[in-house]
Amino acid sequence: MNHSFTVSRDLLRLQGREQEEFHARAAATATGEFGRTVFVRAVLEVSNYCRENCVYCGMRRDNKALARQRASAERLAELIIEQRPESVTDLNIQTGEDPIAVQEVVLPLIRILRRETNLGISVCLGTMSAPTYAELKEAGATTYIMKFEIGDPRQYAAMQAPGRYEERLEHIRHLAATGWNVSSGFIAGLPNQTEDELLANFDVAAALPLRGCSVSPFIPGESTPVANAANGDIDLTLNSMAALRLMRPDWVIPAVSALNIAGPDNGYRRGLRTGANLATINMTPDDLREDYLLYKRDRFIMTEGRILGAIAAEGLSPSRQSLADYYRARTNGVSDTKVALKAA
Ligand code: SF4
Repeated sequence: MNHSFTVSRDLLRLQGREQEEFHARAAATATGEFGRTVFVRAVLEVSNYCRENCVYCGMRRDNKALARQRASAERLAELIIEQRPESVTDLNIQTGEDPIAVQEVVLPLIRILRRETNLGISVCLGTMSAPTYAELKEAGATTYIMKFEIGDPRQYAAMQAPGRYEERLEHIRHLAATGWNVSSGFIAGLPNQTEDELLANFDVAAALPLRGCSVSPFIPGESTPVANAANGDIDLTLNSMAALRLMRPDWVIPAVSALNIAGPDNGYRRGLRTGANLATINMTPDDLREDYLLYKRDRFIMTEGRILGAIAAEGLSPSRQSLADYYRARTNGVSDTKVALKAA
């Protein structure tokens, strides 16, 4: 960990040549930790029901325009077992905050995949009960993705981010304390977000027991109170990613698909140039994906071809070690992991 690295307003504002140098420094830091490899996972979006009401998200419960759906575990299992790309070592199962989907779809799906594949399994399901977390772990998931979303408590409440701020952080700590690898994340460029509010995210992330963290550019959800607001700024997002990499060289930092919306030219590839080391292939079946509002624009869907093309174009290669194995090796000793990754 690089506890001496301080994220400043000046860094977040960088542009042009200085920005390129800053990103190159972050990318070199990632290379030093992980070699020139990127973890490749698949994501399945399983349910778009959500009991929360985040102002910025199209899946919020007040959005009556959205057709809600839950997928079937058997159908998704078949898709993953038979059609996942060879490069995929891990799977992330994602839902709105939907306890019914967790019981009826996610748990059975994890049990099937644990039996039939050696994929690392992560889940991104929102805040659940402690017994549900234990059931998920028992079924075979090892990583929990719980974004704290907004590091400033006042802005968190104003945006009606999930549950309550302190409760969200408490769940993250509980997950880590009960043996999960926890990854989190925050949003850059929310409407009216001040620089101080953005900077608060770094302090919150640094204080949490995390293995990784994402930065997502704000993308206004359709049929939300902020539907007409501007996208988060791509440079602000990329500078935040680079700062995060320099703050925590050992974290797994994803290049999120929304980089392509905030920066339609080459936002995703620029993300890989800031030291991001996780890419995600979207394997949600088409009929379900249509109701995930963010993905309606086809050219932003991260298919296998687009992901592998971007990785190769940046001179990187897919990791043969799964994220789950990487985390396991880290728990047993950092130096062994570095050797394993560089050999992969
Ligand atoms: S951000 Fe998550 S918790 Fe909030 S409304 Fe969207 S899906 Fe639900």
